[in-house]
Amino acid sequence: MMIPKLAAAGFLLAVFNGDAYAWNYKGHEVVGAIADELLEPNARQQVKTILGIALKVAGPWADCARSVARFEDGTFQYAPSDPKYQIPCKSFETAAETARLEDYVSRNWSNCVYQAKHGCNEAYHFTDVAIQHGEYSRSYEGTSEHDVVGAINAAIAVLKGQPAPLPFSIRDKKEALLLLTHFVGDLHQPLHVGAIYLDRSGQPVNPDLSGLDPFTETAGGNFIKDVSKDGTEAFHSEWDEIPNDVGEGANADMIRRARLVPPTTEPLGNLAVTWASDSMQISHKAFAGLTFTRDLTFTGTDHNQWLVHFPDRTAYWNSQNELKREQLAKGGARLAQLLNTIWPSPAAASPVEKGTACTTIGVCYCITAGHRDAIAANVTHIRQLIADQRAAGKAIGYLSIPLSTFGGSYMGVNREVAQQTKDRIEQRFGSGSVWVLNTGAEANLPSSATGADFMYMWTQILEGRGGFGEDFDFFYFTGPADFARFFGLTGTGDADKISAYFDQRVATDSELMSAVAARKVSKAGFRNYYALRASIAFSLGSHDEWNISHILNERRRASDQFGIGNQIAIMFDGHGVTPGNFEGAVAGGNVGRCN
Ligand SMILES: [Zn+2]
Repeated sequence: MMIPKLAAAGFLLAVFNGDAYAWNYKGHEVVGAIADELLEPNARQQVKTILGIALKVAGPWADCARSVARFEDGTFQYAPSDPKYQIPCKSFETAAETARLEDYVSRNWSNCVYQAKHGCNEAYHFTDVAIQHGEYSRSYEGTSEHDVVGAINAAIAVLKGQPAPLPFSIRDKKEALLLLTHFVGDLHQPLHVGAIYLDRSGQPVNPDLSGLDPFTETAGGNFIKDVSKDGTEAFHSEWDEIPNDVGEGANADMIRRARLVPPTTEPLGNLAVTWASDSMQISHKAFAGLTFTRDLTFTGTDHNQWLVHFPDRTAYWNSQNELKREQLAKGGARLAQLLNTIWPSPAAASPVEKGTACTTIGVCYCITAGHRDAIAANVTHIRQLIADQRAAGKAIGYLSIPLSTFGGSYMGVNREVAQQTKDRIEQRFGSGSVWVLNTGAEANLPSSATGADFMYMWTQILEGRGGFGEDFDFFYFTGPADFARFFGLTGTGDADKISAYFDQRVATDSELMSAVAARKVSKAGFRNYYALRASIAFSLGSHDEWNISHILNERRRASDQFGIGNQIAIMFDGHGVTPGNFEGAVAGGNVGRCN
């Protein structure tokens, strides 16, 4: 549940019905479960020793503490009032763990000014930076020394053997780990960091410019209602819900996403602030396009209430679901980064170390050791995409296209040509019958991945589990005509047209601007590439792919199971290739063992 810092003296608690937990418990379990998967050996051992339970189970603990009530005689008792908040707390309902919950809340009840009936511990779950800001700063309204950023840093201090800074009271490393697991999750729920402040007419205001008026506080969206066909719900609660397909643990898709989250290269003490700033950026997306009006039916006198309006409610929640998946993955990856940093594994291989890796058909590459897991996860993911299309009865094609900024070509254009070419091939054969794997859209490896890393991944996809390319019916190699269609070339003044296209694009495409500034692409190089060369004939990866198609068909010809009649069809530039080309190999690209 998200409750704002008590800025107004007359703040009433009765408005909260306890419905809006920060990420619901499933979200906290997912974040913990992802981190469980990503822990390195030393951190894994420390978690086991200190906590004795998985991070997945630990995730909801700080919300379980909300069920500890303070009695009039000054004692504290764990007394869950709503059975549904007991679900994730079952493992803490032993005598010893109930005592721990009560002890934690009693020590963190009156150590900050929060509100009359609730303890200070409930202020640790969030911060409320106005969405007009692009980053988190302790100088902003809505932050405090005991907000979620402060709470994460306090837990880190205890795990490093230092005392918790005031006002926090953290008894031991176990308590610190229970808290950290939860609060790193909260930090990635964008409404736990970015807050919208609204005036009486529903217009956003910036308390850092106008001064904080408590009646503009939306309590992280708890005071904003969504009146939809399903009934009325707090906007905050809708954000706490996680997409159904995510489940309650770390599924393969979430682990894949988490492995793609780049580590944040900052000292330990800066991480919470840096990640809070990242969540500020995400909160901009969460509020983009929304408008608000004051709820005139609301009769409370201690605060206002508003209604949210969406340009297209279904489209909004579809896109926010994707954002939620990304945020949950980030939360898990970053929790693991924190713990792996606090307890480094000395024996871990250097992430940039190279090693030779060979595939089923004996093609070898010199790959980056640190990317092995990401490659394996992506292979699993893409095989599933293919299997889904195959189950729909479609013939499957592989699109080979240069995907780099190299030799005058530019990645941004090539990605668009890849999508356009995929669409055109599917249109040509009928999208009910043919599906093309867009290698431009599925090349999801970290930015430091090399050509060899990518080709080790694509080779495994191409060859299939059996080494006969059995997941594919045809390979499509991109040629000059495919690129000419993209630029709308007609055979007259084509190079001039490409020069004009470059001028227009470089003015608006910041990625191209940076490539030019880094001297990777020039106007003349771009023109010559796209007018004269644009084709798989000038790409390292596509050279490998051509040779792989040759090896796979050679294997099919030699196999009783396939034979000449069941080779993989090969197309280049829109046409089938001649028999001589069909069986001919070319120079190698990224292929080769480490020296
Ligand atoms: Zn929370």
